[in-house]
Amino acid sequence: MEEKVTLTIGEQKNIALIAHDGKKPVLIQWCEDNKAILKNHNLCGTGTTARMISDKTGLTVKGSNSGPLGGDQQIGAKIVEGRIDLIIFFSDPLTAQPHDPDVKALIRIAQVYDIPIAVNKASADFIIKSDFMNKSYNHDVINFQKNIEQRANTL
Ligand code: PGA
Repeated sequence: MEEKVTLTIGEQKNIALIAHDGKKPVLIQWCEDNKAILKNHNLCGTGTTARMISDKTGLTVKGSNSGPLGGDQQIGAKIVEGRIDLIIFFSDPLTAQPHDPDVKALIRIAQVYDIPIAVNKASADFIIKSDFMNKSYNHDVINFQKNIEQRANTL
């Protein structure tokens, strides 16, 4: 049985915003529609998505590198460091992406750390309307320190 540790997602969330090119207009409109909520949280995103949301909605979105140039991996690294609480990622299921392994890696690491992730508008709508947006939320995540100790002692 895996050892778990309880972590708390605070009231103010660190939210990552990402959209593939075909979905950027949908995400920008979604951000505009939900601006009153989003402005109360800390926003970041992959380079082009962050720039476009900032320019078109006036929200402050801190940009990492562009997705195909490692931006998804940067966001994945922030998850590991406990610096992302929620991901809105409008991926495009109908277009091949050059950085598909990075996209899969981001989704996987979000699962590992039990980070809520919306991959389309409907799931983003459900999340943004959730009571947990205004409250802190406790979740059980694998205890990585214990995991390292156990592995180092048994391998
Ligand atoms: P972008 O990256 O915001 O720089 O376009 C998004 C992605 O395709 O992962």
